[in-house]
Amino acid sequence: VRISLIFAFYFPFFCLQGAPLDTAAKEIVEAGAFLNGRGLCPACSGNLSRRLDSERIVITVSGKHKGSLTIEDTLLVNMQGISQDREKQPSAETLIHIAIYEGLEKVGAIMHTHSLNGVVLAQCLKPENFLITEGYELHKVFPGIATHESRLIIPIFENSQDIITMSKEVLSYLKDHPDTYGFLIRGHGFYTWGKDMNETKTRIEAFEYIFEAELKIRTLR
Ligand SMILES: [Zn+2]
Repeated sequence: VRISLIFAFYFPFFCLQGAPLDTAAKEIVEAGAFLNGRGLCPACSGNLSRRLDSERIVITVSGKHKGSLTIEDTLLVNMQGISQDREKQPSAETLIHIAIYEGLEKVGAIMHTHSLNGVVLAQCLKPENFLITEGYELHKVFPGIATHESRLIIPIFENSQDIITMSKEVLSYLKDHPDTYGFLIRGHGFYTWGKDMNETKTRIEAFEYIFEAELKIRTLR
């Protein structure tokens, strides 16, 4: 009994939140349709990934519309962000995904959107480096928050075409602030993640609700 209890307790940690290749690719296709349905990835923007194990992730290929993905539009990359399929080019922002997986070892899935609400907020807040929200019941979606009487801190990074430098900034921030659940990139979009694709979808919904509420409140003021 003791051994099985120990196994049940530690098994999720051994798994590193990974998924088998087929499952991961299917989850990415479905999540692409989910994001497209919410209008979060216009004009082939955005990207999605799923951790397989400590060495590899599955990510969307570059430049495909997220509303019509197939499993052929996903590919394996290693933790250096290098494609393991010579015929496929990964998303331009693969290194940012890698930085998140590297910085937060319990992350199993990542979604990057071009959320209009998030982008408008980050532009309006310029030159602030954080969006801080208070008083939302939906804050309770995030681990460690048990009440609406809480603050959620969403960092805002400046956009750059230098993905290597940006991914280093992201990694360094997440290592120092492991209780981060999403970040904005000014004029560009939003990243969030979870232990699996379902948790990541829930977080997308919570963040989008909070972004929309913040935008409406600031417009009315
Ligand atoms: Zn993007």
